[in-house]
Amino acid sequence: MILRVALDVPLPKLFDYRAEDVTRADIGYRVLVPFGTKHMVGLIIELAAESDIPNSRLRQAEKILRDVPPLGRSWLELVKFCSRYYQRPLGEVVGAALPPRLRSARPVPDAPCDFALAPAGRDALAAIPPRQRRLRALLTRLAQGPASVSELAAQARGARSLLKRGIEQGWIAAFVPERPAHRFVHAHELTDEQEQALRNLRRGFEKFRVSLLFGVTGSGKTEIYLQLIADVLARRKQVLVLVPEIALTPSLEAAFRDRFPGACIVTQTSASPEVERARGWMLAHRGLAHIVLGTRLAVFASLPEPGLIVVDEEQDISFKQREGVRYSARDLAIARAHIAGVPVVLCSATPSLESFHHARSRKYDLISLTRRAIHDAVLPAIRLIDTRVHPVQEGFTAPLLDALAARLARGEQSLVFLNRRGYAPVLACPACGWVKGCLRCSAHMVIHSTDQSLRCHHCGLGEPVPRACPVCGNPDLQAFGRGTQRVELSLKEKFPRTQILRLDSDAARTGRGLEDLLERAAQADILVGTQILAKGHHFERLTLVGVLNADGGIFSSDYRASERSFAQLQQVSGRAGRASLPGEVLIQTRYPGHPLYQALTKHDYAGFASSVLAERREAGFPPFVFEAVLRAESTDATRAMRFLRGAIDAAPSRSSAISLFDPAPMSLARVAGVERAQALLQSRSRPRLQAFLSEWSEALYRLPAHGVRWHLDVDPIEF
Ligand SMILES: [Zn+2]
Ligand SMILES: [Zn+2]
Repeated sequence: MILRVALDVPLPKLFDYRAEDVTRADIGYRVLVPFGTKHMVGLIIELAAESDIPNSRLRQAEKILRDVPPLGRSWLELVKFCSRYYQRPLGEVVGAALPPRLRSARPVPDAPCDFALAPAGRDALAAIPPRQRRLRALLTRLAQGPASVSELAAQARGARSLLKRGIEQGWIAAFVPERPAHRFVHAHELTDEQEQALRNLRRGFEKFRVSLLFGVTGSGKTEIYLQLIADVLARRKQVLVLVPEIALTPSLEAAFRDRFPGACIVTQTSASPEVERARGWMLAHRGLAHIVLGTRLAVFASLPEPGLIVVDEEQDISFKQREGVRYSARDLAIARAHIAGVPVVLCSATPSLESFHHARSRKYDLISLTRRAIHDAVLPAIRLIDTRVHPVQEGFTAPLLDALAARLARGEQSLVFLNRRGYAPVLACPACGWVKGCLRCSAHMVIHSTDQSLRCHHCGLGEPVPRACPVCGNPDLQAFGRGTQRVELSLKEKFPRTQILRLDSDAARTGRGLEDLLERAAQADILVGTQILAKGHHFERLTLVGVLNADGGIFSSDYRASERSFAQLQQVSGRAGRASLPGEVLIQTRYPGHPLYQALTKHDYAGFASSVLAERREAGFPPFVFEAVLRAESTDATRAMRFLRGAIDAAPSRSSAISLFDPAPMSLARVAGVERAQALLQSRSRPRLQAFLSEWSEALYRLPAHGVRWHLDVDPIEF
């Protein structure tokens, strides 16, 4: 027989290996194979009777790794879908989907693959003639209880092949132990609106269905999906919960454990240590975990009995993988729910325009929560400070400084929000116009005051701040713009004897990490922070949020910037105030009349989304068209462009349904010495775009690359 194996190499094909004594029951197992001069672990996808490769060149598979039960059919369908849709070789998708430990032949922790006698096996045992002594012995042993392969192998010669035969005949099945008992803690009474939403979500809940749970901040979305999870667990199914990277904290995990005592909850993130991640993955794969809680990569967790998928903060851009297999975990979650025939619930206070559009056009069920449910939640008053009327000095207008002073006098806490870390984004020479750029990127280097260095936020390059302009010798270089460090320093000058704490990823890296920083933050009078603070952290005394430099989001060349900006500003606004201490948000802007700010002050996401959707329809942007880009990267910009032009020449003939645009450098053209260019494709028909891409992709693999790395990015979010 021939094994057809998916290997993590950038070639769009399966690899054939000879193997004796294999059956269809081996599909989904990992296998160790020789590849060139190395050994690799791949996944058995198909069996074939013959290969296109001449027998003399066909190599022998080394070992089928049966310590881990095979990946199920539904999981294999998911990775195949991902491979087709995102135009990546199946082996690369499998490589991205499995935890690192399972990509090696090293033993996987907690991987006892036990087998048990299936009902058909009991009947067979009665019918098997006594002369088949060894088979009878094996089935008799399993009739007494589950056993591992090694245990069976130790008992009798040839047990492995008998086992395989038994599996093939349906007499023996992988043993799935019982999940431990768990409870659900009802912590809150639901409001009428929440009850209604829950009833709507429960309707037809045992089949595929996409629901968008859209609720204002504090409307209790989490409580609703926790109750749904409890329903699903009661039906003995498993639940997958995807959350944004920044939201998956020990406190979130603890909250889940509090509500589901006794349940087996595993987390999956790229940050977890290899062994821990493999262990959690195995618990889910063996059907023992009730809940898998994770970031985007958890969408590939193996769940033999899925019952529900939840995507919280579904608009978050961290669900899109930006390198390798460029998938959207939210979109894959929907595909996965479809394959498995289970419901998926997308949750957000500021849904992505894609999801919002689908909900309004009834492709998804829209479940809205318009009222606040959480006992203490109040929407803060959002006010705009017109910087044309109130000039900005050292980053602050007079009304914002007054508001900060008033909070200090009352012993309340304030947060100054700006989404830029470092001291200042630009170092320049006012005499000759020289600007310090990164040697390796088409970006300015950012001044950091903590160690008097210049750093590139794209490639990480660092160097000391020069004493003088390298062009004209002027010693009087100037820092333009401001980041969190500069704001922190100017606040310290304005409010001496005040406890000011900066919270950004630089501060989280030094010291004892983000959790520790957040603990100390409760004591501070003024917090200066980036979006690291925007989500999920509650500070009891916080009543004022001041927003600096928000205007960047409304004039970006990226058409998604305003949508993100709204979501971020609404989230950070939500940090201010509770019932007893009403909150206020002050946003400094030159454009107080802009629709984004107007909608924000009214807490009207739906109105904002409708107007942006109308613009997108007019301009022909997603979700009204579907996009993909072909990207080329090279140390030499002309090579990248030449490759793209060659690729366009090699493109299959296309109907008017597909627009393929001329190649252009990316907006950030050079990163870490690599020049990046791309050609954009658009179509109003997703199936046609998909058909075109798969045909084009085949041609691309045949194109000479000459020092160019290329990839297709389907549904791209950066340009
Ligand atoms: Zn100069
Ligand atoms: Zn750089």
